[in-house]
Amino acid sequence: MIQENTSFAPLRNDLTDLFSRPISYLRLSLTDRCNLKCMYCVTEEESSGGLSKLLHDELLTYEELLRTVRVAVAMGITKVRLTGGEPLVRRNVLSFIRDLTRIEGLDDVRITTNGVLLEQYGKALYDAGVTKVNISLDSLRPERVAAITGVDCFDQVWRGIETVLALGFSPVKLNMVAMRHINDDEILDFARMSQQLPLQMRFIEFMPIGASSRWNADTYISTDEIMARIGTLGELIPLQKGRADGPAKVFRLGADAAGTLGFISPLSHHFCDRCNRLRLTSAGMLRSCLLHDEEVNLRSVLRNEPTDAAIREALLMAIRNKPRGHQLEERMHRSGSDCHGRMSRIGG
Ligand code: SAM
Repeated sequence: MIQENTSFAPLRNDLTDLFSRPISYLRLSLTDRCNLKCMYCVTEEESSGGLSKLLHDELLTYEELLRTVRVAVAMGITKVRLTGGEPLVRRNVLSFIRDLTRIEGLDDVRITTNGVLLEQYGKALYDAGVTKVNISLDSLRPERVAAITGVDCFDQVWRGIETVLALGFSPVKLNMVAMRHINDDEILDFARMSQQLPLQMRFIEFMPIGASSRWNADTYISTDEIMARIGTLGELIPLQKGRADGPAKVFRLGADAAGTLGFISPLSHHFCDRCNRLRLTSAGMLRSCLLHDEEVNLRSVLRNEPTDAAIREALLMAIRNKPRGHQLEERMHRSGSDCHGRMSRIGG
């Protein structure tokens, strides 16, 4: 139950971390459930059914999420992204999103989705004020999409992409996790697509997330290699970073291209020094770095001491714990271990 009203006027940004990074971006994993089983996201235990999903009671309720966001916005958060798991599979998600976008001071709510339900939900999202979308698409070949995701869904996802383009979502970003011997022979096809369609095609370096992830050094391809390959197609014209670009380096492939290319290099050129993110996992844990397992248990605060002051303190504690950088390479080198969190819970 809500016991205290939050003052909605943002005071100032209280959320500056120990390394002087202002934290203004909150990513919410609405559920650890997903209608796909992407090979780079799901760990071996998860795909064999060895790891259970969260129970309904373990998820934060919509009321708890809204309350947290209200407090966070009053402290300086200006942007929220909904992710998961697959955010659109959570029951009654549209009514939650309508409440979320009505929060005063929050003018930027985005979603990351696999696109399977976008044809169905695109219009309602747009009407609710969510007009910026990232869609995962790792291949343009239906049979390969089925092999990577475990579901024959290419046509459905493609209709979702056409739906959001027709509705006027902007930006529309497509995320491709580039993997050697799996989909790297399509890098140039994706790059050419950015010349024809008004979207941003983003190439993401494969990250080792989750114990028993299928990441390995042979499958990983660096941004430098991806850019060198695309460079054979024509001039890569660097663009000034826009507000919506996040950590991506953005280019246009030739002056006449309808869309752009984005390169996200969490491993080879990490962007930790500019990181402005805080994550709330689907289990209600505040996590200040995708690749570090330290978390603050907000769910326990929300259920045992549900005051705005306690929520504020939990947010501040998570920010104070934010590491200077993920140092994943060094950690893997030292102990052979990667980060143990599960992508579906953390929210990619
Ligand atoms: N279900 C939604 C989707 O498919 O976009 C949201 C969740 S998904 C975990 C969010 C993003 O994380 C996707 O773009 C996905 O490609 C990316 N991702 C997942 N595992 C990854 C990994 N090991 N390395 C790099 N990106 C990864």
